Amino acid sequence: MNRPPAKPVKPSGMELVFFYVCPYCRRQIPVPSPLLPAMITCNVCGRDFPIVPVDQYTAHFIRLMMGDGPAAVDPDYL
Ligand SMILES: [Zn+2]
Repeated sequence: MNRPPAKPVKPSGMELVFFYVCPYCRRQIPVPSPLLPAMITCNVCGRDFPIVPVDQYTAHFIRLMMGDGPAAVDPDYL
């Protein structure tokens, strides 16, 4: 049998998610840190469209500031 963990578990990693507005149906599509130009498929209308990538150094810097996740935890939980 599985017992619940004794303490709440802290994040061990993180991912930055960016939103792109579909040019066909105007819905926001979440994309985790696209570092290269790519075609994505809208999960609402099913059509493909190209996206502008994010700068890898900027994305890396933000992850570094948060210690890749654990440093973003609410201090009350530490
Ligand atoms: Zn769409």
